[in-house]
Formats: sequence, C-alpha cells, structure tokens
Amino acid sequence: MNSPNPTSEIMCPRQDIAAYIDGELNPRDELNLEMHLARCLMCTSELNEQKKLLCFLDGAMLEKNEIEVPVNFTKIVVANAQGKVSGLRQPQERFRALFVCACLFFLVLLSLGNETQTVVKTFINFSEQILAVSGFVWHFVYDFAFGTAIILRSVSSQLLFNSGASIAFLIILFLFSIVFLSKLLFRFNRG
Ligand SMILES: [Zn+2]
Repeated sequence: MNSPNPTSEIMCPRQDIAAYIDGELNPRDELNLEMHLARCLMCTSELNEQKKLLCFLDGAMLEKNEIEVPVNFTKIVVANAQGKVSGLRQPQERFRALFVCACLFFLVLLSLGNETQTVVKTFINFSEQILAVSGFVWHFVYDFAFGTAIILRSVSSQLLFNSGASIAFLIILFLFSIVFLSKLLFRFNRG
C-alpha cells in the first residue's frame, strides 16, 4: 500500500488536530484531516488523547466552579451591601460622617499654615467654577462622606469602632486625600 502523501506522514501526529477538535478548520482541511485519520493510527490515538484531556479539564473546571461560587453567592453579597448602606440612611450616622469630614478638612487647613489662605482662595475659586456648572462639589463631598462611612462600618465590624487604631488610620487616610486634593487644586489654578 503506497503512502499518498509522504510529507504528512513525517509530521504525525498532525498539528491541526487541536484545531479540528475546536472546530476551527475550514471544511476542506477538515475533510483532508478526516481522510488522513482513517488510515493513520498515530493521529487517531492523538485525537482520542486530546479529546479525553478536554473532557477531563471540562469536568475539573465544573467541579471547581461549584466549590468556589455557591448558588446564593450574589444574594449574600447584595444583602450584605444593602444592610451596610441602609444603616447609613439613619440621619445620625450621616451627620456623623459629614462632621468627621468637616473636622478633618479644617484640621488640614490649619496644618497648612501660611498656605491656608491660598488654598482657601483656590478652593473657593475652584468651587465657584464648578458650582456654576453643577453641584459637583457637594456631590463629591457627600459621596466621599458616604463612602468613608461605609468603609468605617466595614472596618468597625472587625475592629472596635472607638479603638484608637481605626480612628488614627482614618485620620491618616483622610489627611492624605485632602492634601492630595489641595495639590491638585493648586495645579489646576496655576496650570
Ligand atoms: Zn497521521
């Protein structure tokens, strides 16, 4: 029995078997490979091995997904988030968040010393520009306070709310963000 295509016999197992399994071959190449498979034992066993491996991987991935993502995973996350946000709807907590923000803001203004006047002036200029367009600043401050309060609640579920460590951490976090904002305003005004 003569070999009709010697070059393809040399390259066995053929490289396009994977593409054939994935259905990526065009009809002509597919037919070509199928005709080759009919008479090549090496490529047929390679095809079977690759199919077995794929089945094994599919099974493994399905099992993994079942373990990692429980059916009610999204439900738990949503319920958790809603609980945290709805707690903030209480006016007292909202006020406390805003109060903390205001206090920290003025603390930073004081700590800036000589630069305070410039910062305030810059901030007012900036605010006027923004307020002329929309209530962006208010929304920003409000969202920031809201976000801070959420972080505060998340942290407090693990640390004690009144513990010095968490308060210090928040103050440092806030100082950094305010200083960064001030620098941003400076650049905005000069550039
Ligand atoms: Zn072959």
